[in-house]
Amino acid sequence: MKIVIVGGVAGGMSAATRLRRLNETAEIIVLEKGPYVSFANCGLPYYISGEISERNSLKVETPENLSTKFQLDIRVNSEALKIEVDNKTITVQGPDEVYDINYDALILSPGAKPFVPNIEGLDQVQHAFSLRNIPDVDKIHSYIQSNKPENATVIGAGFIGLEMAESLTKRGLNVTVVEKAPHVMPPLDEEMARVAETELKNYGVEVITSKSANKITEDFVILDDGTKIESDLIILAIGVIPESDLAKNAGLDLGIRGSIQVNEKYQTSNKNIYAVGDAISVKHSITNRDVLIALASPANRQGRQVADVIMGMDRKNKGSLGTSIVRIFDQTFASTGLNERQIKAYGYDYDAVHVTSMHHVSYFPGAEMLTLKLLFNPKDGTLYGAQAFGKEGVDKRIDVLSTAIKAKLKVDDLPELELSYAPPYGAAKDIVNLVGYAAQNIKEELSENVQWYELEGLLEKGALLLDVRDPLSYRASHIEGAKNIPLHFVRCRLHELPYDKLIITTCASGQMSYNAERILKQSGFKVKNLDGGLMTYNQVRPNKIKFG
Ligand code: FAD
Repeated sequence: MKIVIVGGVAGGMSAATRLRRLNETAEIIVLEKGPYVSFANCGLPYYISGEISERNSLKVETPENLSTKFQLDIRVNSEALKIEVDNKTITVQGPDEVYDINYDALILSPGAKPFVPNIEGLDQVQHAFSLRNIPDVDKIHSYIQSNKPENATVIGAGFIGLEMAESLTKRGLNVTVVEKAPHVMPPLDEEMARVAETELKNYGVEVITSKSANKITEDFVILDDGTKIESDLIILAIGVIPESDLAKNAGLDLGIRGSIQVNEKYQTSNKNIYAVGDAISVKHSITNRDVLIALASPANRQGRQVADVIMGMDRKNKGSLGTSIVRIFDQTFASTGLNERQIKAYGYDYDAVHVTSMHHVSYFPGAEMLTLKLLFNPKDGTLYGAQAFGKEGVDKRIDVLSTAIKAKLKVDDLPELELSYAPPYGAAKDIVNLVGYAAQNIKEELSENVQWYELEGLLEKGALLLDVRDPLSYRASHIEGAKNIPLHFVRCRLHELPYDKLIITTCASGQMSYNAERILKQSGFKVKNLDGGLMTYNQVRPNKIKFG
């Protein structure tokens, strides 16, 4: 059996090595158009920052090593040019010549390429770069060393853009990030993403949102509103598009945004050709809709699974959630599943809870605040998605919730999760359990939430905002118009509150005010709780906070 693989990194190399483990005699040829295989694309930004100091560390494996260990025929600098589907042949531009190879099975894992926007002047300058592979990072690195740029503009604030913003700042450059969307990190919802913006600003990064780059000159990036940003280095990180020309020219069916269409066995519209990784569209694990998810974990998994399929094993793609994480200076941001915007767009019945707690018990030194947002169906408890930020423990919580979502656990299962605990690591009631309790309270109608974006409208309609923190905290800062009754006085000051109006309870995080909500509800008041409290509200409406 002869199997040819196009693309020698995440999906392609996972397929190649798994194939060898399953079949000692198959002929396996890997074609990679670049000079390296199995390189650490995810590590590239950290080579720019200097955290990865050895360029060689980016080469996770060499072709020679892989050939020896796995008896693979690895051909670098070899681009697959054309597929003849009828006679099962692929035409290759090798380092010296063009030649044909025939195959029994062909796996495409060509990845996704950076989207290059149509910006006036972009093709005239030498200081604009995108980042996909080692040659790209070499160009950026050597440009920085020889030209000593001072002002960098990163266009696009997805995770690659923000990693580059952090890295360039660490290299001593003044960095501006420009994002067309209303906030950075589009997978996050606004109130979570604003914290990322604050973190960037705290480290001197200028963040410009809701604007796009219109023109590039030798010295400036010019935005659509005419703003000129001095820039002697530009990073284009606007997103990626599936590298599907080879498949398209072979007449294979394409899916959303030009992705390669495959079935759950990774088979394209031609039964001898399979495809995996960033180039394919996959089913979203929650919605079952076609989505593009350009991340390393799905690509690696799919590479292994396609090898299993080709070797006759019963394996299928169960879909992806798009779980992702990024470090921005001292904070980590992560998400899994659907965000609130997507849920709204799909018209699902949903609710959200925000919980802030310490990443381990507060009495043990080093406790850091962690905020977790959970999105779920309040009727049947289906988990839709989660987002988190904090200095410590974010990865663990999002990974637990991503596992829970994949396993189709529900809101009621989250309090049941028995997570490892000792004071240096967590709490007996982990924040994942807490977020489960909070969601369960909503589901069981013990509590009703008001989200930050609903507050203004409800106050305009006459609702009363009741801040139940102590008077000192209230005087230091509170949401405009809030009345203060500290929690432990609520029971004896009920006569001050109206029975004919909605009361919205609030505190710093939403936890204390939930207690007030319970007291008031049981006393016959119409009451809801401001989810996430002052902390969440302040992230998005700082101008509505009155400081004492
Ligand atoms: P790739 O790994 O991109 O491999 C495709 C290969 O195919 C390329 O090397 C390409 O040269 C080759 N190729 C394309 N066409 C041809 C052809 N015609 N002939 C021969 N060869 C061809 N994901 C995460 O989950 N976490 C991260 O932190 C993260 N960080 C990232 C940082 C950067 C800077 C980048 C660029 C990506 C990052 N990713 C991250 C995404 C992750 O790297 C990809 O999702 C993953 O590598 C996709 O695997 P793939 O096999 O589909 O494509």
